[in-house]
Amino acid sequence: MKIICIGRNYTEHAKELNNNMPDEPIFFMKPDTALIQSRNPFVYPSFSKDIHHEVEIVVKINKIGKHIEEKFAHTYYNEISVGVDFTARDIQQICKEKGLPWEKAKSFDGSAPVGKFVAIQNFENINNINFSLYINGEPKQQGNTKDMVFTINQLISYVSKFVTLKIGDIIFTGTPSGVGPIKIGDKIECFLEGKNLLTFNVK
Ligand code: ZN
Repeated sequence: MKIICIGRNYTEHAKELNNNMPDEPIFFMKPDTALIQSRNPFVYPSFSKDIHHEVEIVVKINKIGKHIEEKFAHTYYNEISVGVDFTARDIQQICKEKGLPWEKAKSFDGSAPVGKFVAIQNFENINNINFSLYINGEPKQQGNTKDMVFTINQLISYVSKFVTLKIGDIIFTGTPSGVGPIKIGDKIECFLEGKNLLTFNVK
């Protein structure tokens, strides 16, 4: 499986990092070694001093597809969850300044914790879902899918022009504002409509 991540999909987050808004989706990938599931800890990597959390809605693809039209995109997934797109902000800054790819800052081992998936039938409207991230019981990020620049269906359609989507692939759909640093010892909890789907510690 592969992990596809969308950048700058919430205006307030793009602003907090002084980024311009894209006129089409920005995407990058993480390898399967980035995935963390079922309460395994996140190990703070030694190469960075500024790892940031980015909570995101994640979508699991359940049908193979290429050149998916937006109007059919909803038939390519039936489960979503929350995940954290961990980012070595210090490394990313250097990569951006040099015009280099982001992989070192984004794709390292454990950089993609993903929660328990839930069926989309549990939600009235996929484009109005609240999600959040707490550190040690304190709210740090709150988002709603209605604030996405590109909808989940638009993202699936766009990405599938370039990359064939396969069963089990996961799409991280972008983070709202409020990104910030984590530290060793933190307990991180992520919620979808108030329901805890992901909890882990930073080691
Ligand atoms: Zn992200």
